[in-house]
Amino acid sequence: MREVIYQNIKAVQHKINLACTQVNRNPAEVRLLLATKTVNPYKIAQAIEMGYPLIAENKVQELKAKSEILTNIIHESHFIGHLQTNKIKEVLRHGVTCIQSVDRLDLAVKLNDRLKTLNQTIDILIQVNTSAEESKFGVIPQKAIELVEQIALLPNLKIKGLMTIGLFSTDIPKIQACYKLLKKLEIEIATLNIPNVEMNELSMGMSNDYEIAIQEGATIVRIGTAIFGEREYPDSYYWNEKTK
Ligand SMILES: *Cc1c(COP(=O)(O)O)cnc(C)c1O
Repeated sequence: MREVIYQNIKAVQHKINLACTQVNRNPAEVRLLLATKTVNPYKIAQAIEMGYPLIAENKVQELKAKSEILTNIIHESHFIGHLQTNKIKEVLRHGVTCIQSVDRLDLAVKLNDRLKTLNQTIDILIQVNTSAEESKFGVIPQKAIELVEQIALLPNLKIKGLMTIGLFSTDIPKIQACYKLLKKLEIEIATLNIPNVEMNELSMGMSNDYEIAIQEGATIVRIGTAIFGEREYPDSYYWNEKTK
């Protein structure tokens, strides 16, 4: 098992390097995030120890269960799943340093309130639905700037950039369009120089399309299947409100 994970990570890193070279980017600008939903913590630990300390879960329950086992292994934990407001307290208990999936004001306000009580701040990314697929979360692109401006006023949230899930398709130009749109939004927002807003991170690209995302400017690629193998549950289990 260890050997398989090792070979997979090496192969992914190699492709990341190639994709960077093609567009004159330094591979050090692209972080490989391990998307660890459904993966058991011992396998996650193996991947972390191969030099990939950035991991992320989609569900607070899984985060909780695994963070206890991973406490003695140095790593950085992000959250990339749809976050319900009733899970805010819990998500903040397990050392998450960035919530990549903030996509609505009511969630941001409640997150900020809780952080104020704790006297803490947290990094966030704004999740944008660039594919216009109903099954995916994220603010619609037309409302993204307004949302950033509103969330910027919440002092305990530190906006660091944008996140998106690209279109599931074999049509490369359509996938590219999603990532180009996110990049365009990043530039627009950066130009506005909004106080309390940084636009340094673009989290985009998964197992099937991370090379395209890198070509369009990704700084974080979120990889699960290509490293840990196929999952038991379909992604609709994680991405669709109705199938919790
Ligand atoms: C599952 C998931 C990933 C990783 O997907 P793979 O196709 O397995 O690489 C990335 N981002 C999010 C938000 C996910 O839920």
